[in-house]
Amino acid sequence: MDMEENTASASRGSPSAQMQLRTENPATMAEVARLLAGRTRDIRLTGELRRLFRERSWPRTAKIIRAWMTWVAFLDVLTLSLNAILLPKAIVMAMLAPACILPPAALATAFIWRKPRAYWLQKISIIAGLLLILLSVALVGVSAGGEFYERHLNIMLFVAITAIIIFAIPLAWTVTVAAIALGLYLVFQLLNPNLEPGNAVAATLFFASGIVATVVARRTMTILAQKTFLLELRDRSRVAELADANARLERLARTDPLTGIANRRWMMETLHHLWNGGMNCRGCAMLMCDVDEFKKLNDHLGHAEGDRCLVKVAGIIQSSVNGERDHVARYGGEEFLVVLPGADEQEAIATAERIRKSVEAASLPNPASRVGPYVTLSIGVAIQPPDKASISPEQLQNEADAALYLAKQAGRNCVLLHQPDAAGT
Ligand code: GH3
Ligand code: MG
Ligand code: MG
Repeated sequence: MDMEENTASASRGSPSAQMQLRTENPATMAEVARLLAGRTRDIRLTGELRRLFRERSWPRTAKIIRAWMTWVAFLDVLTLSLNAILLPKAIVMAMLAPACILPPAALATAFIWRKPRAYWLQKISIIAGLLLILLSVALVGVSAGGEFYERHLNIMLFVAITAIIIFAIPLAWTVTVAAIALGLYLVFQLLNPNLEPGNAVAATLFFASGIVATVVARRTMTILAQKTFLLELRDRSRVAELADANARLERLARTDPLTGIANRRWMMETLHHLWNGGMNCRGCAMLMCDVDEFKKLNDHLGHAEGDRCLVKVAGIIQSSVNGERDHVARYGGEEFLVVLPGADEQEAIATAERIRKSVEAASLPNPASRVGPYVTLSIGVAIQPPDKASISPEQLQNEADAALYLAKQAGRNCVLLHQPDAAGT
């Protein structure tokens, strides 16, 4: 039975988490759209949606049932105590036994509704609980007799009506409760020595119209609650779609479309975050990598081949660094900036050499290059040592650029470390 699954899952996770999980189901969302497009009174929740709705409304329904049951038990005891003071002893003694049925029945029902239980148990507990409560109220009047007879039957109907109105339970259960209340009323009025059977039936029919109106009102309230739930699901799904689209846009804005690695914008943000987080104090290395004689590659093999070469070089650089810690971005046309947080001079040079050698070893053709027949990289390295006065990321980048310039002058396909003294800084 679906409610059993429902109650089991309701106890496993928070309703909103469950809902989040399942609203991703396109079939469910299509059903939500279909129901919302139709007339409100035609809303019928089935399958997954019904399960979700029950999961969502259970805590509130259970809370109301528990509160109602506890108050009814309390009021029963209070009324009996007041009657004991105000009424003759014989009447009080007659009321005592039937009045004692109510508190345990109400409290047992409240106890069962403390947490989600199997569907059949919820159903039996609410129907049996209400049957005993209504029976108790009716029997108090029947036992006391006289003016109390009819008065307590009316109180019983009043009690039933409050339960029908405020318990957001399945319609079939509500109808059963209504039938029990009217059945008890009819039976006890037929047994009423002060009432003609015809009058008993007439009175029952009179109250039946009121009870039917109450059941209809309950049904309308349930449908409206279901509609609110559907609107909420639709809103959640739209918000999730928007968040998804935003995340996609964000990714696109940070990614270089050709190579798929991070772009310059993302690198600037990263540097900003690193420096704000005190990276300049902990030390950092920057490698500015530039493909040698790339214009010649374009000129001889075509722009498309140049693009493919850039994709491969980006992949090689990315796989030559520590993916967890280091950052690689395509900085310009055939330039890549690598940031190695926390790296010292030795590690920075070792990484730069690893990148350079890996690109060379890939043997990507660049037939017209003056360096050799294959694609090579020149790399300028700059270090922000942890113990030195800190410089801005832009300054460190300029230093790496200056070292790259020298590497180009030194014949390309090499790694050069920026020397502050040599550059006069
Ligand atoms: P050097 O060794 O001094 O770095 O020489 P170089 O030819 O690599 O440098 P230069 O700056 O003269 O040329 C870079 C070339 O990179 C020019 C430009 O057409 C090319 N380029 C820039 N972006 C792209 C791109 O996205 N795809 C392709 N195929 N080529 C690009
Ligand atoms: Mg360049
Ligand atoms: Mg170049």
